[in-house]
Amino acid sequence: TLLESLLNEYRARTQGSAAAHWRAAAALPGGETRSTTYHPPYPLALATGHGSRLRDVDGTDYLDLVNNYTSLMHGNAWSPATRAAADALADGAALSSPHERQVALAELLIERVPSVERVRFTNSGSEASVLAARLARHATGRDRLLMFDGGYHGSAPPLLAGTPDVVTVPYNDLDAVEKALDNDIAAVFAEPFLGAGGVIPSHPDFLPAVARLAHAHGALFVLDEVQSLRNHPGGEQSQLGLRPDITVMGKVIGGGLPIGAIGGPEQLLSLTAATTTGGLSHSGTFNGHLAAAAAGTVTLQHLDASAIDQLNLAAHKLADAITTAAAEARIPATVTRAGSILNVHLSTTAPVNAAQARAVADTPLLAALHLALLLDGIYTTPRGMINISTALDADDLERAAQAYAQAFQRLAGAE
Ligand code: PLP
Repeated sequence: TLLESLLNEYRARTQGSAAAHWRAAAALPGGETRSTTYHPPYPLALATGHGSRLRDVDGTDYLDLVNNYTSLMHGNAWSPATRAAADALADGAALSSPHERQVALAELLIERVPSVERVRFTNSGSEASVLAARLARHATGRDRLLMFDGGYHGSAPPLLAGTPDVVTVPYNDLDAVEKALDNDIAAVFAEPFLGAGGVIPSHPDFLPAVARLAHAHGALFVLDEVQSLRNHPGGEQSQLGLRPDITVMGKVIGGGLPIGAIGGPEQLLSLTAATTTGGLSHSGTFNGHLAAAAAGTVTLQHLDASAIDQLNLAAHKLADAITTAAAEARIPATVTRAGSILNVHLSTTAPVNAAQARAVADTPLLAALHLALLLDGIYTTPRGMINISTALDADDLERAAQAYAQAFQRLAGAE
């Protein structure tokens, strides 16, 4: 079959990655550190990344359409960020006191994101989601959380669907939200679009209605902008007319280094202050790490409205080119998009919820597309998500579009 021949070609061309994988597997379960990045027979072992280029341990170069799952805004090893981080490290980045570098990043987020008046830092988006859940529970005196099927707020157990205290309903289904909401829910957690769930945009009035319903039931509305903050200077809330009680942030705000944060109104966020009697105690040895804060600040400073508009327009064109190429090859495919983040779904209709996306994910055809692109020097994710950074130029994007066209032709030829 096509998939078997692609796997053989991959094995022949990535012997260094195979060796790296077997060595890693003796030290790291499964030879990896992130479930989502694994794919058979073994993931590519990357050695370096510069700008829009990645190099594997065999010395092969790839165009980076993953950007560390949207966290790299300006590409790999972007020098203003690496310099800012290096300066922070040289000054002592583990000072265990509040620091100006943290304040500078917080000030920038407050200036940009409408609902954010105060910022509390963590080390990852997952930790920020956990803090948001703790804060919502503390503020409301309730335990349960309402989330969306396919929503992803990090890998912490209390935030994974299927655990007690988490109720899950389909995305874009207001009736289901209405039925599930009761006066026992501490918060509704939503992403402006389902990110890991398939880059599925929300219907225009869906989230404003969800926020209203949440408030009518005395629950908080938490908006997870960990991915979406790259799509607009003020996050997608500024586009959707939302004023969340808590905004969860991460990825791009660390300029490529680990960070997370929650933001919101002064009154609510002050519950996390050490000086607040009966508040929430929140600590972390590396909270708001100074190298990440410095890299994040310079990254956002170079990400103004016009830079984002250009990037989103380029993503729109790439989505169109991929859709056209699939149609020409008679491969059933649709591309969903939110700003500069895209997902290729091998179906003729765009999914509106995670169940529809799952039905066409994890198929041999999608695995074949991923491998065909890798073998053509294009680094994408196994699940079909890609995103672009400002490091990709017009030629890079043209090359990416052509690679998709060739990959689709290859898939079609094998049928
Ligand atoms: N929230 C969303 C929307 C995400 O996409 C992610 C990561 O993919 C997270 C939270 C978790 O962030 P982190 O991986 O930094 O823990």
